[in-house]
Amino acid sequence: MIDLHAHSSASDGTEPPAGVVDSAVVAGLSVLALTDHDTTLGWAEASDAARAAGITLVPGIEVSCSRRYRSVHLLAYLPDPAHPELVAELEEARSSRESRLDRMVTRMAADGLPVSVESVRAEVEEGATAGRPHIADALVRAGAVAHRDEAFARWLGDTSPYYVSHYAPDPVRAVEVVRAAGGVPVVAHPLSRTRTGVVTDDLLEELAAAGLAGIEARHRDHDPAAVRHLTDVARRLDLVVTGSSDYHGQGKLNRLGENTTDPEALERIEALATGTEVVRP
Ligand code: AMP
Ligand code: ZN
Ligand code: FE
Ligand code: FE
Repeated sequence: MIDLHAHSSASDGTEPPAGVVDSAVVAGLSVLALTDHDTTLGWAEASDAARAAGITLVPGIEVSCSRRYRSVHLLAYLPDPAHPELVAELEEARSSRESRLDRMVTRMAADGLPVSVESVRAEVEEGATAGRPHIADALVRAGAVAHRDEAFARWLGDTSPYYVSHYAPDPVRAVEVVRAAGGVPVVAHPLSRTRTGVVTDDLLEELAAAGLAGIEARHRDHDPAAVRHLTDVARRLDLVVTGSSDYHGQGKLNRLGENTTDPEALERIEALATGTEVVRP
């Protein structure tokens, strides 16, 4: 079983990188990709844990992108984590995420919600990528909601008055930078309706022309018609099709291995990569 999309506490997952690897073993995975938002911080710990546990680890990143105020997520497998352009893009996104979170929290606190910059910061691991789920965690800790999902439904959604956007590169630029870093770009959950706006077929074509390698077709947020459509588009554009869980520990319902990727698809991804090696036991 191959699952190529999971988050740890290096971004907004609830388990440390080694804990995600342990959970992958329990779920029966043989291959796991760690794809934290805009960071490679968890790679070293996850790699050591995977070697110890005897499973394969694919180091990755979920790169935040934005096109006309709409967010697009790009999975980047096996890039060189020291590539200067990639490092610069990730650093800019991460620092913008911090000030953006402070602005959201300030707006929420002014409205009487039980959060503060300090209480939200306390939910973010040292060096981790800060995101809205950390505001949700602070609201859960304050007893205002029962879980992250309720916090998103009430106050944290993309259309909430408290929402503030953050810097993120255009997805074409991100595809180019990931390729330049020797990584393999695969667009994440392009037809997720839980997000503002979906990725159109035109954008998929544009990304393919820029060097996109694959489409994450099988994902919890895609219904069967969406999976069929994306599989057709991938065939037409000669892109790899993947399926993955988008695991966030206890932060989301998504379970490791609930969607999986075929070995042939992973072979194609690995063959295209020149930035980092797959970690094998
Ligand atoms: P941000 O990156 O700060 O814009 O926040 C988006 C993150 O929040 C994504 O990684 C999602 O996985 C997560 N997220 C979005 N909606 C929900 C939800 N309803 N419950 C839990 N997590 C969510
Ligand atoms: Zn996330
Ligand atoms: Fe995503
Ligand atoms: Fe994700």
